[in-house]
Amino acid sequence: MFRRSSRPIATLFGIPLHLHWSAVLTAGFVAMSTPAIVGLDGSLTSVLLIGGLAAFLFGSSLIVHEYSHALMARRRGIGVRRVSMWALGGVAELEVEPRRWQDELAVSVVGPLASLAIGVVTLGAAFGVAAAGFGVPARLFAWLAIVNVGLGIFNLLPGFPLDGGRVLHSLIWWRTGNRHRSTVIAANSGRVVGGLVIALGVVTMFLGGSGFLTALIGWFIMSSATQARAQAQEALELAGVRAGDIARPLPMSVNADLSIDDFVHYWLPANPSPTEVILLTDHDQRATGLVPMAAVAAVAPMSASGVPMSALAIPATSLGVVSPSTDLGDAFAASPSGFILVSEPDRLVGYITPRDLRRTAHPTPTPAGTGVTG
Ligand SMILES: [Zn+2]
Repeated sequence: MFRRSSRPIATLFGIPLHLHWSAVLTAGFVAMSTPAIVGLDGSLTSVLLIGGLAAFLFGSSLIVHEYSHALMARRRGIGVRRVSMWALGGVAELEVEPRRWQDELAVSVVGPLASLAIGVVTLGAAFGVAAAGFGVPARLFAWLAIVNVGLGIFNLLPGFPLDGGRVLHSLIWWRTGNRHRSTVIAANSGRVVGGLVIALGVVTMFLGGSGFLTALIGWFIMSSATQARAQAQEALELAGVRAGDIARPLPMSVNADLSIDDFVHYWLPANPSPTEVILLTDHDQRATGLVPMAAVAAVAPMSASGVPMSALAIPATSLGVVSPSTDLGDAFAASPSGFILVSEPDRLVGYITPRDLRRTAHPTPTPAGTGVTG
């Protein structure tokens, strides 16, 4: 939801950093509330200065947390698409899910450890600055220490999608050897944690405190856990089928630069029964993305002339690319969009749509006209 509208503001360690506008709200909230927390009642300039510094330090510690995940992932051979920050925190977007429990454990545990480490360092700084006689900066560092230790502990709560839930997931995966079943368990735990956090927020509000943000975070945890559980259950039902068994033959392809107008007015009349998805290729015939025909149908009447087909594409990074022998449960887990390309080492051999996956997981007839992405 928040990913589409975020934009890169910097590139750190070769990984793009995206900032969603909602992160600015949180920064503003921190900037406004901190001067009072640290006992500052000076001039407007000093309030702005301390507030701005607090927001900067708070944001920086969250960015350090996310980059610790990202750098550990890269160290373990997992590509990182970007780090995105938004109102309720951030996310290091990995190109693929970790394939081994050891990798998942390392990548997930390092974030809370980074927060705890920042907490310890800033607590030391607080004592140092206090000894030098600077009260407000000392209390600012102490506040930052408490926030980071709190973040570290909170993120270690054992419920997916929190880091602690991923740690739990990796450990159950290690003990059971079944990744998707582990996800169901960690997600159930996440629903319990989310429910408890919501309850804490509501009780705080009843007692006259500001528990709204707490309840919102709890809701976010619970809904993410519910979604992850549904996906894992689907993956469990798909386990045992191989991608090559249900793949459709190679889709028709067009050049990614072809305009939507030309596609509709010239290509489509010449190819009256197109495949359900159209493969986009670059000038070297390499696949760059997939366009579901449903997406063309949805925009064709209002498309501006000259807009290329690539504007409608699910990018190659959101497609799972798997070999024909890949277990369908794993193929499903590898595809953020639900569209999967099936490929031999040297050539593409077919594709699978989300509807194909649903049909395989639930072999009962689905109503007609549910649409390719519905
Ligand atoms: Zn984290």
